[in-house]
Amino acid sequence: MRYRKFGNTGEKISALGFGCMRLPEVEREGVWSVDQDKTDEMLGEAFALGVNYFDSAYYYCHDNSEAAVGRAVKPFREKVLLSTKCPMGDELKQRGDYRRFLETSLRRLDTDYVDFYHFWAINRRVFDEKIMGMGLLEEALRAKEEGLIRHISFSFHDEVQHIRHIIDTAGVMETMLVQYNLLDRSHEEMIAYAAEKGLGVVAMGPVGGGRLAAPAGLYEKLTGKHSAASYELALRFVLGNPNISCALSGMETLEMVRTNARVAGNEEPMDEQEWAQIAQAMDEIKKFGELYCTGCGYCQPCPQNIKIPHLFQLYTYYNVYGLTEYARKAFAEYRADPAQHGNLSDACVSCGRCEKKCPQRLPILQELQKVEAVLGA
Ligand code: SF4
Ligand code: SF4
Repeated sequence: MRYRKFGNTGEKISALGFGCMRLPEVEREGVWSVDQDKTDEMLGEAFALGVNYFDSAYYYCHDNSEAAVGRAVKPFREKVLLSTKCPMGDELKQRGDYRRFLETSLRRLDTDYVDFYHFWAINRRVFDEKIMGMGLLEEALRAKEEGLIRHISFSFHDEVQHIRHIIDTAGVMETMLVQYNLLDRSHEEMIAYAAEKGLGVVAMGPVGGGRLAAPAGLYEKLTGKHSAASYELALRFVLGNPNISCALSGMETLEMVRTNARVAGNEEPMDEQEWAQIAQAMDEIKKFGELYCTGCGYCQPCPQNIKIPHLFQLYTYYNVYGLTEYARKAFAEYRADPAQHGNLSDACVSCGRCEKKCPQRLPILQELQKVEAVLGA
């Protein structure tokens, strides 16, 4: 295993992190539980192979992930870094809820402290209204002083440009967890900014949540060299970015643990030249797509909550990279739950704000309809 500097935290983190959101589960009469034996085996194997970062969250695996992780890492707790996340949705109504969630997580993890405690999946509004407005940042600093958490972290789901606001306004964020993979590089600039500001950066979805790898044959097409399986390219690409400390993978099987550990421990990581070549080739391929949305997010927020960049990104997966099945499935998930994800173009009131702000001068409304027709077919 290779280890990297984790921003200014003083920690050395393994290049591969274990995302504990897809642990093996069993369901009996509508009640879910985690298969503890398999979890012990997988996390134990990961530790033996050098993985030292284990990331859970309050709601993972039907609320059972933290307890299962706590049990599995018990024999080597002091040798690893444990990460978990505080829910930031409607369930967090007042300042004291932060401490309540933290104490529950500590109890479930069966530990006196958590190494990295995240404000979970925040956006600009949650940051302004809750973290700053409600005084949660002060709560986090107090918990740190008391030794309950060692580092203050956040994970992020919003328009990319808000990352700068969060890092600069809070001033005490130590690590950041963001989506980053070969096909979704929209956070690249802000990842570099975070690294420059001394934050450690963990990439989630390095191989697209375990489902999405680069299309077969892509590596050869891009580099002219015979390769490596597509997931291997995807993981090596993420780790080739010097601003990423750790690629977090939601591993589900022992085989996945071993394969990912081998790739992450590869003595010949993607070098700078190869990385730049692939990044450029991906951009070139994308430019040949008829719809060139850079994912900049300037068209957001839409007053009707239409997630334009996301819908266009799915179309790029479909149209440019040939990930038809993945794109259709993701679109169906988006459409099935507007409250959680956002609306489609039928909610558009033609205010024109998005098109005015788009640097690519895209005819957004027209394109949205086309994209939805193709993905929904
Ligand atoms: S024109 Fe439609 S899609 Fe664009 S910002 Fe207005 S409501 Fe949203
Ligand atoms: S549609 Fe335009 S403004 Fe919106 S993310 Fe794409 S390129 Fe940026």
